Amino acid sequence: MHPVINSYAQFKEQIDPYYGAPQSIYSDHFTWREENQTQIGYKLEVLPLLPGTYATLQGGHGAVLHESMTKLPNTHVLMVLMRDGFHEGSPGGSVELSENGRAVLDYPLTSYLTDGMKHAFETMTEIQFAAGAVATRIGHRDSAWHSSLSEAKEAIGRLPIELGKASISSAHVMGGCAMGEDETQCVTDSEGRFRHLENVSIFDGSLFPTSLGANPQLSIFGFSRKFATRLAEDL
Ligand SMILES: Cc1cc2nc3c(=O)[nH]c(=O)nc-3n(C[C@H](O)[C@H](O)[C@H](O)COP(=O)(O)OP(=O)(O)OC[C@H]3O[C@@H](n4cnc5c(N)ncnc54)[C@H](O)[C@@H]3O)c2cc1C
Repeated sequence: MHPVINSYAQFKEQIDPYYGAPQSIYSDHFTWREENQTQIGYKLEVLPLLPGTYATLQGGHGAVLHESMTKLPNTHVLMVLMRDGFHEGSPGGSVELSENGRAVLDYPLTSYLTDGMKHAFETMTEIQFAAGAVATRIGHRDSAWHSSLSEAKEAIGRLPIELGKASISSAHVMGGCAMGEDETQCVTDSEGRFRHLENVSIFDGSLFPTSLGANPQLSIFGFSRKFATRLAEDL
């Protein structure tokens, strides 16, 4: 998957982050960092910020949440997508069945990931101040708003990246039924046909053999259309 973290910024100018197509702005400058070997790489993207999304991401309640929401028109958010699975420090997650048949999810937070997240928090904060932000706050339960880059960087260095503290999410679940020609690695062939049962095809995000490094929806639409058309012709 792509673990995701965010950084928020307040601007004097009104941004209206709930209008337009803000996700059309991104940067791959830090995406391919495997040669670095100590920190995971990440893609930078600008998220749309709808009221419900912002209230959830900010957390809190009462007067604190009210104040955050009042400032929403002047609020900007950057996020990063981390491309896991390409380094032994980010092996990805697992899904196993427990004894009672329930799915058990696990996703290790390694130092390769958390060091990359610290780097990403610094990058996002730096970009936001360079763009004229008057204050920034990282997506972390214990983070305050900071009005200078040096203050913000000091806080990023100090705050622990731990579960329940840093706000880490992912909307891009990929893999599980990898497609490919290598039968020892891939449970489906390169057109999504399941190898171990007759007449079962899989056309969804589980076919990805690795995480993607980009938002996956268009790729899923693309291969699903291609494979479904071919299957229909065969049938
Ligand atoms: C908040 C959010 C924002 C996102 N933003 C973007 C974006 O901007 N760009 C982008 O490219 N991607 C985005 N994604 C990711 C994208 O939506 C997913 O990668 C994509 O939808 C996955 O497609 P899929 O077909 O694999 O699974 P899904 O779209 O999850 O489809 C699975 C379907 O199976 C159904 N289902 C589940 N269990 C059963 C069952 N037992 N019986 C019958 N049906 C069942 C579900 O109801 C669902 O309709 C976002 C995801 C989220 C959650």
